[in-house]
Amino acid sequence: MTNARQTRIVRLMATLFKDAVRENVHPLNLVEAGDAEVEEWEVTRPPLFEVYMRMAEELAKRSTCRRLQVGSVITDANLENVVGIGYNGNARHFPNDCDGPTPGACGCIHSEMNALVKAPGQLRSKVAFVTASPCVMCAKLMVQANITHLYYRTAYRSPAGLEVLAQAGVHAVHYERWAEHWR
Ligand SMILES: [Zn+2]
Ligand SMILES: [Zn+2]
Repeated sequence: MTNARQTRIVRLMATLFKDAVRENVHPLNLVEAGDAEVEEWEVTRPPLFEVYMRMAEELAKRSTCRRLQVGSVITDANLENVVGIGYNGNARHFPNDCDGPTPGACGCIHSEMNALVKAPGQLRSKVAFVTASPCVMCAKLMVQANITHLYYRTAYRSPAGLEVLAQAGVHAVHYERWAEHWR
């Protein structure tokens, strides 16, 4: 084993995750401990990632879709500003109801679409928080809208959307670690 390779492994071991979620590789969540002996990182207050996920959960409650209620929050890269919000439902001036009962074709605009249509296109490296993992088309829209990280609370029945994100290099994190804390 070369020295360079050893160094890289030690550095990885010394990386701490502020929210104790190892899948959460967002730069703001990483701490270079510089000392491999430091393994405990105490989480004493709700991580910002969890706070934005709860905002998405509150938004989902406003959904008028009869099939599934989904909420979304889009922030800038530093998680400092919310730049778009959404939940699934019909278009403005249309009835607050699905167009029809067919699953997958109820006529509602998806939560992610409603949020992305509000988020500024010129803003790069946005972060998305959604209460459910995306369908294929919403996943593609997130790729196209320069979302770098997606946090979702529950996994939608089809993994196809997540596969699209993986293919395009968008980090998707199943974020449920703190769902029951600080309630
Ligand atoms: Zn609907
Ligand atoms: Zn969708």
